[in-house]
Amino acid sequence: MPELRKDPIVGRWVIIATERARRPGNFVDATFHNTDPKDCPFCHDKDSKEIYALRDPKDPQAPWKVRVVESGTPLFSGTGSVHRRGHGLYDMCDSFGAHEVVIETPEHIANMADLSVEQIKNVFETYSLRINHHKKNPDFQYALAYKNYGKAAGSRLIGHARSQIMATPVNPIRVKDKISGAKKYYEYHERCLFCDIIRQEKNSGERVVVETQHFLAVTPFASRFPFEVWVLPKVHACDFAEGVAGYENDLAKMMKELLLRIKIGMDDPAYNYVIQTAPFRLENSGGLKYRTIEQDYHWHMEILPRISRVAGFEKGTGFYICPIPPENTARFLREVKI
Ligand SMILES: [Zn+2]
Ligand SMILES: [Zn+2]
Repeated sequence: MPELRKDPIVGRWVIIATERARRPGNFVDATFHNTDPKDCPFCHDKDSKEIYALRDPKDPQAPWKVRVVESGTPLFSGTGSVHRRGHGLYDMCDSFGAHEVVIETPEHIANMADLSVEQIKNVFETYSLRINHHKKNPDFQYALAYKNYGKAAGSRLIGHARSQIMATPVNPIRVKDKISGAKKYYEYHERCLFCDIIRQEKNSGERVVVETQHFLAVTPFASRFPFEVWVLPKVHACDFAEGVAGYENDLAKMMKELLLRIKIGMDDPAYNYVIQTAPFRLENSGGLKYRTIEQDYHWHMEILPRISRVAGFEKGTGFYICPIPPENTARFLREVKI
C-alpha cells in the first residue's frame, strides 16, 4: 500500500509509493555537460558587467576565483522602483530587483561536485557577501541563492559551474508557507521545528545521507521528489549569511560529498538547489513583523535532482507522488562509493 505522509512544516500531504518502488537507477535521465571551453561565455567573458570578484588579497593582480556578473537574461531589473499599485482586487508591482550570476570557478568545470572544497567555500562566502549587500537596500524583502544544473533543471548547456542570486521586493510564497508553519509549531511546543527534525533524524538515522560536524543532510520524511535532500545546519539560525559565518568550510565539505554521491550514484543527473533563509525585513513600521522568527525559523538548503516529472494529478491537487520512499534513496546515496 502506498503511504500518505504529511510534511510537518507546510502541512503538505505526499503520496509515497512503497510497493511499486523501483530501483533508484531506473529513474535517471542522464544529461551530459561536456562542452567545448572555446565556446564558453564564462571562460571568455568580456561583455558582462562585473559586480564583484573574489581575488587573493595578497595578490590583487592574480586572476579571480569567483566572479559575480549581471544576468544577461534578468528576471528582475535594478533600475526604477518597486512601484506597488492596485488594479481592482489585484495587486502588482514592477519587477524591480537584482539578478546576478555567480561564476563559481575560472576553470571550465560543469558540476560543483568537481570543484575543490576550498573553491566551494569561496562560492558560499560570495553568496553571504552579496546577500548582505542586498539586505542594505530598503526596497528588497528577500534574496534567494540557487542553482540550476543541467537541462532538466532549467539551465543552458554551457558546461561552466554557476549559480544565481535574486533579490526581490516581495517574499516568495514557499518561504511564507515555511515561516508560518514553523511559527505555529513554535507557538505550540516552544521549540524550533527544524531543531526537532534534526534531533529525530539523527536518532533514527534511516534518512541520513551525510553528516559533518555542523550539518546534517537528510531525505525528508514527506519528500515531494525522489532523491530530494535537505541540508540542515545543526547550529540554529534563521538567516543564512549570519548562520553560516564560520561554518563555510564545513558546508563546503558537506556539499562536495553530497553532490559527488548524487553525481556518481545517479549518473550525473540535472539538479536544482535553493537556500531557504529568513526575509530581510523582520520589522515593519508598526513594530515587529516576525516576532519570534529568530527562534522559530531555521535556514536550510533543498537539493532537488530532476529525474521525474510533475503530472496532472500533482498539478491539480498539490499532492505530490514520490515513487521511491526517502528511506531507500537515503540508503542508496549512503552506499555510493566516492
Ligand atoms: Zn567555461
Ligand atoms: Zn532551529
